[in-house]
Amino acid sequence: MDEVLLQAANEQLRSAQRSLILSHIRPDGDAIGSLLGLGLSMQALGKEVQMVLADGVPATFRGLSGSKQIRTQPEGTFDLIVVLDCSDLKRVGTALNGTVRPHINIDHHPTNLNFANLNLVETEAVATAEMLAQFLTRFDYPITQQVADSLLYGLIADTLGFRTYNMTPRALRIAADLMEAGGDLSNLYYRALMRRSYEAARYWGSGLSTLQRQGRVIWASLTQADRQTVGYQGRDDADLINVLSTIEDADVALVFVEQLNGKVKVSWRSQPGFDVSKIALQFGGGGHAAAAGAEIEGSLDQVQEKVLALTQSVISTNT
Ligand code: AMP
Ligand code: MN
Ligand code: MN
Repeated sequence: MDEVLLQAANEQLRSAQRSLILSHIRPDGDAIGSLLGLGLSMQALGKEVQMVLADGVPATFRGLSGSKQIRTQPEGTFDLIVVLDCSDLKRVGTALNGTVRPHINIDHHPTNLNFANLNLVETEAVATAEMLAQFLTRFDYPITQQVADSLLYGLIADTLGFRTYNMTPRALRIAADLMEAGGDLSNLYYRALMRRSYEAARYWGSGLSTLQRQGRVIWASLTQADRQTVGYQGRDDADLINVLSTIEDADVALVFVEQLNGKVKVSWRSQPGFDVSKIALQFGGGGHAAAAGAEIEGSLDQVQEKVLALTQSVISTNT
């Protein structure tokens, strides 16, 4: 990471009195963990901080300490705006008015558009929480037990428990440091990756019953009707994509989730050697080589047809 940029980011965070920190819509564990990690650490320094997620905090994350402070809209004025774990500004949703240019962008997506004045983008980092843990340690910010828990949660969530193929010795060392600072690894691991509601398990059942394979691509879909039948509250796939990505004999797995707004949320996961972020980017989304997503206009059938056609053609030219 560029030393000059790191120093400049530190100076801006240190001199800010009233900061706004944001992360992405449909927040995942890294979005929440990074937001709380930086926000709570700045608060421990005595600074005024507002933490905002346009979609609010999904039920799964409500046990994290500090999560009750997270708002859906900013209120007032700020001398510093920091965006975390977002590859583009659309990802903050309605939390920022389109004309605002954030001061600092901290992220690990290769599809990041460098939308802020100061862009700290490190694609080798396994999570934005990893970048923050390094940054906060390096510049002597308080790593309280709550900060350690938040960052460790983000690290565990984005690496599916330290098992994604982008894992590094550095990320494991940082996780160990966060444990030493009081992070409760086994509890966080269980909460981030293992525990799920009865409704979510039944929702998986609906999705799995649609599982299909063509060549080296497998996919499943979830409709609004499935969601209602089982009483699943979220608008996501309840991490069904992580189940699909454990299935052998496939290079790419996809999940299509019908939304209420006439769009379909698509998730891609790929085996090493395949880059699905480029496919997602073509549909206005983004992500990493191994995990990408997009929200695409159209009916479930239309979106499936378009997305599967492009995915198959990219996969076939890959070898
Ligand atoms: P998901 O399939 O939603 O779990 O997302 C996988 C990866 O793609 C994550 O790193 C997300 O941050 C990224 N991603 C998902 N949806 C979008 C989107 N609409 N725009 C940009 N990046 C996305
Ligand atoms: Mn994220
Ligand atoms: Mn992330």
